[in-house]
Amino acid sequence: MGLTQSPPYEKQPLYIAGQRHQLQSTFTTVNPANNEPLAEVSQADPSAIDAAVEAGQRAFPSWSITSPLERSRILLRAVHLLRARNDDLARIETHDTGKPFSETSTVDVVTGADVLQFYANLIAAGGLDGDTTPLRPDAYISTTKAPLGVCAGIGAWNYPIQIALWKSAPCLAAGNCMVYKPSEFTPLHALQLAEIYTEAGLPPGVFNVVHGAGDVGARLTSHPSIAKVSFTGQVSTGSKVASAAAAGMKAVTMELGGKSPCVILPDAAVELAVDGAMMANFFSSGQVCTNGTRVFVPQSLLPAFQTRLLQKMSDIRPGDLMDPNTNFGPLVSKPHWEKVTAYIRHGIETDKATLLYGGLGAPSPLPPACRKEGYWVRPTVFTDCTDDMLIATEEIFGPVMTILPYDDSHPAYLTTLIARANATPMGLAAGVFTADLALAHQVVGALEAGITWVNTWGESPAEMPVGGWKKSGLGVENGRRGLEAWVRHKSTLVEMARGGSGTVFAKL
Ligand code: NAD
Repeated sequence: MGLTQSPPYEKQPLYIAGQRHQLQSTFTTVNPANNEPLAEVSQADPSAIDAAVEAGQRAFPSWSITSPLERSRILLRAVHLLRARNDDLARIETHDTGKPFSETSTVDVVTGADVLQFYANLIAAGGLDGDTTPLRPDAYISTTKAPLGVCAGIGAWNYPIQIALWKSAPCLAAGNCMVYKPSEFTPLHALQLAEIYTEAGLPPGVFNVVHGAGDVGARLTSHPSIAKVSFTGQVSTGSKVASAAAAGMKAVTMELGGKSPCVILPDAAVELAVDGAMMANFFSSGQVCTNGTRVFVPQSLLPAFQTRLLQKMSDIRPGDLMDPNTNFGPLVSKPHWEKVTAYIRHGIETDKATLLYGGLGAPSPLPPACRKEGYWVRPTVFTDCTDDMLIATEEIFGPVMTILPYDDSHPAYLTTLIARANATPMGLAAGVFTADLALAHQVVGALEAGITWVNTWGESPAEMPVGGWKKSGLGVENGRRGLEAWVRHKSTLVEMARGGSGTVFAKL
C-alpha cells in the first residue's frame, strides 16, 4: 500500500482498565505525507484522566507484588507479539509520522521491543534485588527497591512507539502502573501497544492511555496520585513539566532537546566523517533529538568534506514512503513544517549563511509518488556558519546541517574547538570523528553531553543508558541504570540482639 492509500483508521479510544474507552469529543490526526485525515481520536476530559489514574491505582497493589519472574514472563510475551506484528506496527507509524517504512520497519518497533526484552530479562535475573549490609554481629541493614506507584509517560511525536516502550518497559518491569499520553500528532500506536500488553497477560489498569494535547499532559503531571513523570519533548515544555512535578515532589525523567556538536578532527577519514555527519542530520528527516547539527570541520579538510558531502546528498531519496528504496520523508505536521521552514528562511535571509545545498521549498523535482500537500522540506546544508547564528544555536529539529569551520593550523586549536562545541545551554549528545582513539577519548572526556559517540552516530541500543546534560534533561533511560529511575529505596535496620533500643533508657 502506497503513502496515498493509508487506510482510514477507526476512531481511536482511550484505554482504561484494559478496555477501550470512546469519548464524544475528538480531534483529527493526519497523514503528513498527504495531509489527509487518518483518524478521529478521543480527547480525554478531566474525568477520563482521573479514571485512567484510578485504574492504575486499583491495579498497583497486585502488580507491584507480582514476582519479577512472572512480570518478566508477561512482558516477554508482549515482546514476542511486537516482533510478530513488526510490519503492521511500522506501517501505522509510517502513516502517522511520515517516516519511510524502510526506517520504521527496521528501527522504531525493533528498538522499542529490544528495550522491553532487556528489562524483562533484567528483572528476571535479579535486577530489582536489594542489598544487605552487615552492621554488627547481631544487626544488619537491608535495602530494598520498591516501585513508585502510578506513573505518567508523556511522549513526543518523533519515535512514538519506541518512546512508549522506552518508558513503559522499565516502569512496568519495576512493578509500577502507567498512564501514557502520546503526542497528539502521533496517537495511533498507543491503542496497538495497549492491546498487545493486554493480550500478553498484563492485568487491566497496569497500562492505560489518554489522548490529547498539552492540557491533558499538564493535568496528568499535576494529578496528586501520579508518583512520577517521564517526559520526552522540547526543553521549554520540559521546564514546565518539571516545575509542575516539583510542586508535588514527584520524581521526573526528562528527555529533552539538543543542539549537539559533531566534531570532525583533522585526521578523520573524509568518507567516514561525511557519512557520520549525514547520519547526524538527515536520518528521520532530521527529527532526531540526538542530531549533531553543529558540524565542526577543520579548514584543512573543508574542501574535501564539502565536495564529498555534495556528492552524497543525492543518496537522500524522498519518495513513496512504503517503497523500500525511500529513505527520506516529510516532516511530521504543518506547525513543525512552518517552524523548520522559518529557520531555513532565517538562515538564508537574516543569518546570511552560505547555502551549500537545499533551501526553501520541497525537494525538487518532487518524485511523482510524493504529494505536494505533504509537509516536505529539502535536506539543507549551510556552511561558513558562525556560532552566534540562530540556525547554529537553536534546535531546528529538521534536516538542516550547519557547518562551522575551525582553524586547525595552530597547535592550541583543540582548546578553542572544545570550548566552541560546549558553548550551548544544551548537552544531549556529541560525537567525534578521528583516526586517533587516544585523542577521541580526550575530546569526548571534555565534551559536555550525556550521550557521546566515537566514529559513529545515532545508535542507541537497549544496553546503553541515555540522557541529557545541562538543559537537555534529567536522568537516563535504558541500560541497567534506567531501571533505577522507576524505584525508590527502603532501608531497614534489623536488630537481632534482645533489647536493642531499650538499653538507652534503661541506663537513665
Ligand atoms: P513538545 O514538548 O511540544 O511535546 C511533547 C509532549 O508534551 C506532547 O505529548 C505534548 O502534548 C505534551 N505537552 C505539551 N505541553 C505540556 C504541558 N504543559 N504539560 C505536560 N505535557 C505537555 O515536544 P515535541 O515537539 O512533541 O517533540 C520534539 C522534541 O522532543 C524535540 O525537542 C526533541 O529534541 C525532543 N525529544 C527528545 C528525546 C530525548 O530522548 N532526549 C527524544 C525524542 C524527542
